[in-house]
Amino acid sequence: MRVHVLGSGSDGNAIVIESAHQRILVDAGFGIRELARRLKSVDVAPESVSALIVTHEHADHVRGAGAAARRWNWPVYATAGTQKAKGSEHRRMADGRGRMPESSVPISVAIDRAPSADATRKKKRVVKHIVDTRTEVQIDDFSVRFIKAPHDAREPVSLVATVKSTGERVGIAYDIGHLTERFIQSFSDCDMLLLESNHDTQLLRTGPYPWSVKQRIASSHGHLSNRASAQLARELHHPGLVAIALAHLSEHCNDAGLALDVVARALDRLSYRGRLQVAGQDRPLDPVDIDELRRRARHVEQLSLL
Ligand SMILES: [Zn+2]
Ligand SMILES: [Zn+2]
Repeated sequence: MRVHVLGSGSDGNAIVIESAHQRILVDAGFGIRELARRLKSVDVAPESVSALIVTHEHADHVRGAGAAARRWNWPVYATAGTQKAKGSEHRRMADGRGRMPESSVPISVAIDRAPSADATRKKKRVVKHIVDTRTEVQIDDFSVRFIKAPHDAREPVSLVATVKSTGERVGIAYDIGHLTERFIQSFSDCDMLLLESNHDTQLLRTGPYPWSVKQRIASSHGHLSNRASAQLARELHHPGLVAIALAHLSEHCNDAGLALDVVARALDRLSYRGRLQVAGQDRPLDPVDIDELRRRARHVEQLSLL
């Protein structure tokens, strides 16, 4: 299994997960041109992606979803709530510079709008699959489990994707307001974790957002702080965990070094030897090759036994 985080943050999220045989994309939060550019930069042909999974309807997760799914014939997998959400249901909350703070502004959900007769003629229909948290979805070589995410969207989910042929497993947990024991347990036994590390609590307090936005981000249905992310990493640590990527960092209320430091310190005591890195907004993260990291971890273990 290889994981390409094409970018993560309040301006867009997209992650390619690939097995030896197949690729799926989780979220399409970049416009179609930018999405195509980022896919190309990691040598992934859009036509080779066999499905798009959308975690929830916020703009930073769906911006290019509709257009990309139509252009490249991607079937879309999302919860009923996500598919039903409409742009008009949400408010615009600019942060004073016309930008959207912490992905709080779902502009539109392109994946399930009732098209006009005209649009239907021009646009290809997208094949849509409704997912829920009770059923594991089989997408060829992948088995995907969905976990209810506490976040201010209609029916948001986090997920765990497993490559059936190898058992390799990645957990994607971002846009989460708080942690529960049940939520944490859902991500046990992952080889790789993509964990939200949205903000530093102090920087959020003193940051540039209006009070209402700060309240929303820090609420139980907002985003995870660095400290909460560290707790999640600590709880989910196990000997088979080989990679952690911190994701969805706030541009104004966090810093990559700070986030890394908080999580690394939490993992220090657990002798975590895997990779720990931050997924940025501007460019894709180096691909994470789970098989290679597993082999390296085994090698290090053998050396330590000598
Ligand atoms: Zn969101
Ligand atoms: Zn988001």
